[in-house]
Amino acid sequence: MSQQKVYYFDNNATTRVAPEVVDAMVPFLREFWGNPSSAYQFGAQVHGHVEGAREKVAALVNADPKEISFTSCGTESNNTAIHSALVTTGKRHVITTRVEHSANINFGEFLERRGHEVTYLPVESDGSLDLHLLERSIRPDTAIVSVMYANNETGVVFPIEEVAAICRSQGVLSHTDAVQVPGKLPIDVRRLGVDFLSLSAHKLHASKGVGALYTKRRTKFSPYVFGGHQERGRRGGTESVANIVGFGRAAELAMASLEDENTRVRALRDRLESWILANIPNTVRNGAKEPRLPNTANIAFDFVEAEATLMLLDQLGICASSGSACTTGSLDPSHVLSAMGVPAMRARGSVRFSLGIYNTTEDVEYVIEHLPRIIQKLRDISPLNPAHPDNDKYDVEAARRKHEADLAAATGEAVSA
Ligand SMILES: *Cc1c(COP(=O)(O)O)cnc(C)c1O
Repeated sequence: MSQQKVYYFDNNATTRVAPEVVDAMVPFLREFWGNPSSAYQFGAQVHGHVEGAREKVAALVNADPKEISFTSCGTESNNTAIHSALVTTGKRHVITTRVEHSANINFGEFLERRGHEVTYLPVESDGSLDLHLLERSIRPDTAIVSVMYANNETGVVFPIEEVAAICRSQGVLSHTDAVQVPGKLPIDVRRLGVDFLSLSAHKLHASKGVGALYTKRRTKFSPYVFGGHQERGRRGGTESVANIVGFGRAAELAMASLEDENTRVRALRDRLESWILANIPNTVRNGAKEPRLPNTANIAFDFVEAEATLMLLDQLGICASSGSACTTGSLDPSHVLSAMGVPAMRARGSVRFSLGIYNTTEDVEYVIEHLPRIIQKLRDISPLNPAHPDNDKYDVEAARRKHEADLAAATGEAVSA
């Protein structure tokens, strides 16, 4: 594979593996490749490094190492928490939100097909959650409430401490998907008071294929992956040693980079966002300004399709996205933006820029230099644009309706008025 310079603005999808993390991993691929469950020294010495990584990941969220189990990814951690709650409580109702990662949405749909009931809480137009509604949605047969800590598409942060307190007062388990949070906000499971919390290594500058699930001490647990006695019986499968060791190193680095992320990276994000909103007409931010992750900007560019914008950005080596990687290539507008009541047209023109510690001022200025021309070019040829030069020959509303109908036909969704 060849590699031109990339201007990477998709850190909520995945992150560059930190060089320090690669260095920590390599010995466990080259030399110390033994099985940590083996009795002989060559394997057993590896076990110590897995436990060292567990301590570091525990420290990242202020947990006890015994409360951390390694999984294969954030998705598995989410599925495991919900599955465990259903099994240990024997109850059948799950509460989550409409703006969760597909890890939760699609697992919820599977559970519904299997006879469970799932409530997907709506959100306000700024992406925030109505806690009274959450409280009123809890039923005697509710097993668990799963609410994400920070949204991967908009960066909007939910009040997890309050969610967990409501759950505790009603005797219901709580889980939070904190995959987007490490390195961006401090995480303290003791303060949060949740029963389960999910992490994923590749969102914090470690490798893909390893995640972690925090399970509060004394919270009943039932495994999701059955096999050997790894992870103290909580998750079968030989440990992904190099990935786990890298995850441990990345956890240390994430704590150290909190300040950079909240000063320099935040300033870069703010510069990019406020420049676009001030200088490119017909743009709006999706989601509340605060509380929000310091790295994420989700901006709607009216009268253009995000897929076209992203393609032209890509030609310049700029990586951004139209929401979650999971919806790329589909005509459906983002389920997150839809849940916020963003009209489908506007949602389909929305682009997410998610920055990280490797972004520089130069990266941001490069986007600022090129973006206006890209948007102008697309608007010039867009029949959706009221300022289209052919507008007098053109019924904009009719074009808009036809466009909506075409998309509805392609996606099978209902046409909204
Ligand atoms: C990326 C992401 C996940 C999934 O993590 P994987 O390790 O890729 O399975 C889950 N939740 C959120 C909020 C994410 O951003």
